[in-house]
Amino acid sequence: MSRRLAQGFEGDAPRESASVTAVIAFGSNLGDRATIFAEAADDLRRMPLTSDVRVAPAIESVAIRVEGPDADAPAYLNTVALIATRLAPSILMSYLHAIEDRHGRERREQWGDRTLDLDLIAYGNRQIRTRRLTVPHPRAAERAFVLDPWLALDPDAELPGLGRVAELRAAIEDPS
Ligand code: ATP
Ligand code: CA
Ligand code: CA
Ligand code: CA
Repeated sequence: MSRRLAQGFEGDAPRESASVTAVIAFGSNLGDRATIFAEAADDLRRMPLTSDVRVAPAIESVAIRVEGPDADAPAYLNTVALIATRLAPSILMSYLHAIEDRHGRERREQWGDRTLDLDLIAYGNRQIRTRRLTVPHPRAAERAFVLDPWLALDPDAELPGLGRVAELRAAIEDPS
């Protein structure tokens, strides 16, 4: 066995990267939103090195466009999934983009209508800043449509570097 491979062994067992809990936000305001979410959740379950996919009940909210909330735009369905994964963050993000593509995601304008948006909200307690990926997601803390379904799955959730999700949620102004 090569030295490089041998270094991957500790005693008899291959050393594996630890499983982390990743938080994925779903959004859709085009097509059969609930069916798209169910299929996307199954797509997550089929990813390698991934288990324990749990999806919160979906909630509906008004579309936010660059100009602000838009009651005339098709409304959003949103939810959050928690997964246990050993995929590296960049690989996980590539899978999320592929799942979006599979469900007809088109990218034209910022915050435009979409069949499926999958954002990586958190990846364990890691803080990541690369050209393609910022984790935690920089706008998650101000989005009730992310925090509410997350809290439904995990009332004790924390957003790394920002604190308890329940407290972040309480700080958001409700438009009503
Ligand atoms: P927002 O990011 O405000 O929710 P959006 O989801 O509509 O807006 P997209 O057009 O889907 O934005 O994504 C723009 C880019 O953001 C993607 O190309 C992706 O590489 C990058 N990105 C950086 N960090 C993340 C992250 N944590 N989750 C998802 N995409 C990310
Ligand atoms: Ca699996
Ligand atoms: Ca998004
Ligand atoms: Ca996105």
